[in-house]
Amino acid sequence: MGGRKEEYVGLLKRIEGSLSEKEQASGRFELPPVDVMWEGQKTFLRNFSDFPKVLRRDPDKVLQYLSKEFAVPAERMGDKAMFVGKRDPDDFTRLFNIYVKDYLECPTCGSPDTRISKANRISFLTCEACGAKATLKGKYA
Ligand SMILES: [Zn+2]
Repeated sequence: MGGRKEEYVGLLKRIEGSLSEKEQASGRFELPPVDVMWEGQKTFLRNFSDFPKVLRRDPDKVLQYLSKEFAVPAERMGDKAMFVGKRDPDDFTRLFNIYVKDYLECPTCGSPDTRISKANRISFLTCEACGAKATLKGKYA
């Protein structure tokens, strides 16, 4: 009989464990590592398509943002993105981190679960976690 009780406690512990893992997963996210390749005077971000997926943003908007911030032409090629000129992986990481702050994180609660809406040419960030609505900090929404 004692064994059965231990099994039960073990089961409860497993449930608790999986719950807290889930909470962590939805509370914040991690950006994928930047995978960059150079060819002549061009930079290819080989895993570009992973970023809009994780960020839950339109890939065209994300590409436009990178292109404007780097001030170079960029083009999507399947899952990859091509940028004119040589860029370090750190340049991409830095820009993605700014993107998260300016286009993703709720200014009220810090949740990344937000969406962008537009009214009268003004972009708003609406938080799905706390319901706050704020004007978007970034320029390229
Ligand atoms: Zn919020």
